[in-house]
Amino acid sequence: MSISASECSSCGKVIIPQRSICPKCGISRGSMRAIELSEYGTLESYTVSQFPPSKFEAPITLGIVKLERNALVLALCNSRDIEDLEIGMEVRLSYDEKQRFVFQA
Ligand SMILES: [Zn+2]
Repeated sequence: MSISASECSSCGKVIIPQRSICPKCGISRGSMRAIELSEYGTLESYTVSQFPPSKFEAPITLGIVKLERNALVLALCNSRDIEDLEIGMEVRLSYDEKQRFVFQA
């Protein structure tokens, strides 16, 4: 499985999910190229929310996953056992049944 992303042809910024406008340099439509990234990355940070938005059952664990090309993704942890999480560990990104990003160690 791979993760769909966009790459800016002007500044090189890689963004997930795909977009038509670069959030870094503001260049518009036609300059963003669709690319695919490996689903393996590292856990940059995580937090446990005891008061998540409605539709989520507390607690939830959210993490920032860094993929290749320094692409950052906010993802749910699909395990409730945060004892196993460690900053810098290798994680695998995927999608859940609602097409949200989830990661697992
Ligand atoms: Zn750009």
